[in-house]
Amino acid sequence: MPYFDFNATAPLHPDARRAWLEASDRAWHNPSSLFAGGTFARNLLEDARERLADLLGCDAERIVFTSGATAANNAVARHVGRTAAGRRAVISAVEHPCVRDAFVAAMPGSVVEAPLDRDGVVSIDAVEELLAAGDVACVSVMAAGNESGVIQPWQLLAERCRQRGVDFHTDAAQWLGKLPAAELGRCDWVTGSGHKFGGPKGVGFLVVPEGRTGFHGDLGGPQERGRWAGTENVAAIVAMVAALEARDGEAAGQRLLRAGDRDAAERRLLAAIPAAIVVGGGAPRLWNTLAVIVPGADGKKLVARLGRAGVDASTGSACSTGSDSLPRAVLALGGEAAGRGMVRLSGGWETTAADWTVAIDALVAASVTDRADGASRPAPGPRR
Ligand code: PLP
Repeated sequence: MPYFDFNATAPLHPDARRAWLEASDRAWHNPSSLFAGGTFARNLLEDARERLADLLGCDAERIVFTSGATAANNAVARHVGRTAAGRRAVISAVEHPCVRDAFVAAMPGSVVEAPLDRDGVVSIDAVEELLAAGDVACVSVMAAGNESGVIQPWQLLAERCRQRGVDFHTDAAQWLGKLPAAELGRCDWVTGSGHKFGGPKGVGFLVVPEGRTGFHGDLGGPQERGRWAGTENVAAIVAMVAALEARDGEAAGQRLLRAGDRDAAERRLLAAIPAAIVVGGGAPRLWNTLAVIVPGADGKKLVARLGRAGVDASTGSACSTGSDSLPRAVLALGGEAAGRGMVRLSGGWETTAADWTVAIDALVAASVTDRADGASRPAPGPRR
């Protein structure tokens, strides 16, 4: 059964599983305990921190292990809100709700959304203009989109923010494991989530700015150098780092091949349904994501039909599934009615060209049925 919901979550990577089992058996003590078992767990934890720092290209001291990207993003927003002293935060209009809602809650009335182009890419000029006003405390723009896979110009934004002494935060939950992590350490704040790249769920990390004091995610114990209270989940942390090492080490050629499979699938879809709109189709995108709007169709019905045909897909991010909120980029692109016909296919590292063909053929068949249903449905009229 082809699984096409990797942007929602990925299965455990075998290296992560091995590392998790070993650490659970051998390093189950509290890493803050002073006896030998605790020291052993502490050493594993610090080794994981060093290895993650190597991948990200930053100092290990900057890494704080967290319970996922949601908790980390909320903590960044709270910290910025506490220290902004009347300044504003700039976020993109496509941020995950755990960034957008957290900033809005932490800085009511002081959050500005930077505009996007047609493909959902943040306008650097618009951010520059906002920075020029001199009252921005932090810019937060995700590295790659969970809904469309669109890649944001985070390296450039980080550079512009650095020039003006403004913090730059990137939510790299979708970037990590799919594209090289190496330059992320150049951002002031980076958040990541283990389960998006084959680590366990409920574990993630946060990179804090060099030399920053006064940051604490939660109040409580002095874990993570006083920056994240609560006993560290050593096994999950070690497994997360093992998964990222496995994914990050792959050759660039592999990513190109997979992007080629996705692009071929996209062409196959557009040949069958020329009216379909690829979300972010004109922008650089993650190699695994194909978000399409089938005009006149109902995304939820399409996903249900795909499921019956053995293809696991989604209507958008896991966070908008089940609610009626539509992906922001989709609203920007095609309006509410178009957005209702959105389906997101997000493949993984082992997804084959044949899997993509199965998914596209199932989507085409489902779309034909759904649009035919829509056409034969009687027009709404007065109730009798
Ligand atoms: N940020 C982005 C871009 C995501 O896609 C997700 C996952 O849905 C999150 C944050 C939340 O991550 P977590 O499940 O680790 O809280």
